[in-house]
Amino acid sequence: MESPTEVRIIGAGLAGSEAAWQCARRGVAAELFEMRPLRTTPAHQTDAFAELVCSNSLKSESVNTAPWLLKEEMRQAGSRLLEIARETAVPAGHALAVDRAEFSRQVTESISREPLITIRRKEVTEVENDPTTITIIATGPLTSDALSREIARLCTTVSDKSQLYFYDSISPIVEADSIDMDKVYLAARYDKGSADYINCPMSRDEYDRFYDALLAAQSVEQKDWEKLNYFESCLPIEEIARRGRDTLRFGPMKPVGLKDPRTGRIPYAAVQLRQENLRADSYNLVGFQNHLKFGEQARVLSLIPGLENARFLRYGQIHRNTYINSPALLTPTLQMKAHPQVLFAGQICGVEGYVESIATGLMAGANAAALATGSQPEPPPRATAFGSLLHYITRAESRNFQPANITFDLLPALDRKVRDRKERHRLQCELALREFAEWLRPSALQPTSAAP
Ligand SMILES: Cc1cc2nc3c(=O)[nH]c(=O)nc-3n(C[C@H](O)[C@H](O)[C@H](O)COP(=O)(O)OP(=O)(O)OC[C@H]3O[C@@H](n4cnc5c(N)ncnc54)[C@H](O)[C@@H]3O)c2cc1C
Repeated sequence: MESPTEVRIIGAGLAGSEAAWQCARRGVAAELFEMRPLRTTPAHQTDAFAELVCSNSLKSESVNTAPWLLKEEMRQAGSRLLEIARETAVPAGHALAVDRAEFSRQVTESISREPLITIRRKEVTEVENDPTTITIIATGPLTSDALSREIARLCTTVSDKSQLYFYDSISPIVEADSIDMDKVYLAARYDKGSADYINCPMSRDEYDRFYDALLAAQSVEQKDWEKLNYFESCLPIEEIARRGRDTLRFGPMKPVGLKDPRTGRIPYAAVQLRQENLRADSYNLVGFQNHLKFGEQARVLSLIPGLENARFLRYGQIHRNTYINSPALLTPTLQMKAHPQVLFAGQICGVEGYVESIATGLMAGANAAALATGSQPEPPPRATAFGSLLHYITRAESRNFQPANITFDLLPALDRKVRDRKERHRLQCELALREFAEWLRPSALQPTSAAP
C-alpha cells in the first residue's frame, strides 16, 4: 500500500499540537511548523508548544455543563492535550485548571518524541495551494502578519471581499425571560419587515442618566499591543458617547421610525435587542459592543428600561483576534469550500477558548488524516457538543459572524419541552454522549493504528 500523504500543520499552539498528535495516532506523518522562538507573538512568553497565554483554566468539570460535555466527548475521542491537562491539573474547585508550565512542557515533550511528527521552527508565510498537499492552518488569534496577508488572499471570495478579521467586537447578550416585557415593545424600523426587534424606549431623563453613567464607567485596561484602531462602523459605545451627548441618538440608539404602539410616539432614544437564537431565549443589544469592565456593564446597562434585572449571558468585548468568516468559507469538516485540502483549526476557525481550540485541532487532525489516507471525513452528529460547535461555525449568519464558546445555546433543542433547566441540560448531555459514542464507532475518529 502507498504510504499516506504527509500533513503540514502551521502553528504548534493548542489546536496545532493536538492536530499533529491525531495525525500521528492514525499512522499519518505530520510536519509541524512553529515560528517561536525565532519570531514570537505579542502574548506568548516561551518557546513551548500549547502555551496558555492568559488564565490557566480549561473551564468547568461539573457534570452536565456544556464545557464538561465537550471535554467528555474529547476524552472519548482520545484528545492527547486533554489527557495531559488532567495529568497536570491543580486544585481549582469545579474547574479543570493546570500548572501551565508543566502542561506545555509535557505537550512539547510528547509531540517532540513522536517519530511521525517532524518539527520545523520557522515562520510560514505561504500556504501551498496544490491539491496534493494537505495543510492545517492553526496559527491562532495572533497569526503573524505575513501569514495573515496570505490567509486574507486565500480567503478572498468571488465578491472580492476578504473574509479574514482582525478583532472581535462583541455585543452583550441577555436572557429573554429576564427582560421586563411591560417596559419594551416589538417593532421594526418604519414598520419595514416583521416586528422582530425588542425596543427599549428612553425618555430624555432616562437617556441623560444612562449617558452620564456610561461616560463615567471604567474601561478594561488595554496592553499597548492590544490598542486597536477601531473601524468607524464598529466603535465601542463609550467611544461614540465621548464624541457628544447626542451622538448615540444618531447611532446605535437611534429612535427614528420606531413608533411605540402603546403611545403612538417615537421615543427620545431606543436600544434595540435582536433575537440571538432560534429558540428566542436570548437577545443581543444591537451595536452595543464596548470595552467596559464587566461589573460596570452590568451597572450601566441596567439603566436601560426593561433591562433593570437582565441576566447577562455574555458581556460586550472588543479584543484583538485573527479569525476567518467560517460560515462563508468552511465545511463542517473544517475544510475550505474552495480549497478542500486546506483545513482550519483553533481560534482562527471561529471558536473561542482553550478547550474549543483543542477540540477543533482534534477534529482537523482526524479529518486531515482521513483525507491523507484516501477517505472522506464526516462531521459528528448535530446533537453532540462537537457537532454543535462545528454547526455553529459553519452555519451561523455569515454577515455578523462572531467566534463562540461551547454553550447550551449552540446545542439543538430537545424534541420535547423540559422546563427545568438542570434536567434539560442533563437530557441534552445524555443524548449528545449517546450519539457521539455511536458515531465514534465506525467513524474517522477511530485511529487506524494504535497510539504510540
Ligand atoms: C491575549 C489572549 C488571551 C487569551 N486568554 C484566554 C483565556 O484566558 N482562556 C481561554 O479559554 N482562551 C483565551 N484566549 C483565546 C484562545 O483560547 C487562545 O488564544 C488559544 O491559545 C488559541 O489556541 P490556538 O491553537 O488557536 O492558537 P495558539 O495557541 O495561539 O497557537 C498558535 C501558534 O501558531 C504560531 N504561529 C503564528 N503564526 C505563525 C506562522 N506564520 N508560522 C508558524 N507559526 C505561527 C504561534 O506562535 C502559536 O504558537 C486568549 C487569547 C489571547 C490573544
